[in-house]
Amino acid sequence: MKNNLVARLFLRFAKIMNLAFGNALRTGCRYCIFLPYCKLNKSQVLLFKRNSDLNEYIAKKRAEGIKIGFVPTMGALHAGHISLIKLCRRDAGLTVCSIFVNPTQFNDPSDYEKYPNTLRSDVDLLANAGCDVLFLPTITEIYPDGLDLTNSPIPLNGLDKQLEGASRPGHFQGVAQVVKRLLDLVKPDLLFLGQKDFQQVLIIKKMIRHFQIPVDIIQGAIIREPNGLAMSSRNLRLSRDAREKAGVIYEALSHVKEHYGKIECDVLIARAKEMILEKLEGATIDYLLIADSETLMERDSNNNREKVLLAAVWVEGVRLLDNIILTNE
Ligand code: AMP
Repeated sequence: MKNNLVARLFLRFAKIMNLAFGNALRTGCRYCIFLPYCKLNKSQVLLFKRNSDLNEYIAKKRAEGIKIGFVPTMGALHAGHISLIKLCRRDAGLTVCSIFVNPTQFNDPSDYEKYPNTLRSDVDLLANAGCDVLFLPTITEIYPDGLDLTNSPIPLNGLDKQLEGASRPGHFQGVAQVVKRLLDLVKPDLLFLGQKDFQQVLIIKKMIRHFQIPVDIIQGAIIREPNGLAMSSRNLRLSRDAREKAGVIYEALSHVKEHYGKIECDVLIARAKEMILEKLEGATIDYLLIADSETLMERDSNNNREKVLLAAVWVEGVRLLDNIILTNE
């Protein structure tokens, strides 16, 4: 009788330990609820789910004089994200990556619901890339006061209403709010962002200037699939055929870059659009234009500032973004 009770108590204890530790290690820490952090997949990546635990850990590292680098992401990681992790490892002593699919930046609820989740492979990629810390917060950790952001918009000088902002109202307010919140939590010295989301980098710079956040931004180059298509988590939603053909977007952008300054811009833009629509049947081009790389005003040619060619193309219900810097040599 007594032995039986001891055996049952032991089994229950073992089950709790397995939930708290075993599954945590195997599954990307879904059950890691009793620990401030845990190690993932026998690697050195430490997983944090709570702000307070992350804060404490990073504060300790900072006190040791270690430079903190931060790569915010929404997961479904690919080589583009990993290139930022590598830059971060090059420049910082502690590499922190966050995975948080931010609901407030999706103006289309089905886009949010369909956003790919590949946590297990994300963890492997981060481990192989030598990431130190993964922050995987819940929605309530990030938004303890709820998701309504309309009371405290961040002034973005209308930059949030152009291009991506025109097609996705509220998107950049959501981006600016979540990055502000993450920067408040992580307090990094360096923030790593991809050129792939060109307008997003400008928005985040504006937000950082507005709040005078002491962080330096390092921009990583666009990483592409072998056919030239800019890597994106959303590419997973394309059919194999469309994904292959979508390489034409980069071909079209490269065509404009090659002839920029030699052939009239209108002609180049028209040809680039033709190239895309010829190859990608059923695609629609939301915009494909040349803009000032600071103001994003279309062909703001009154100055010698750098110009960028930006494109947003809908393919099979997926919005594909790309851009290329143009130089007038
Ligand atoms: P996301 O997970 O899409 O929010 O992206 C997280 C970060 O990775 C952002 O700074 C993106 O600009 C960057 N990123 C996304 N795709 C690429 C890519 N193909 N090459 C380089 N950086 C990228």
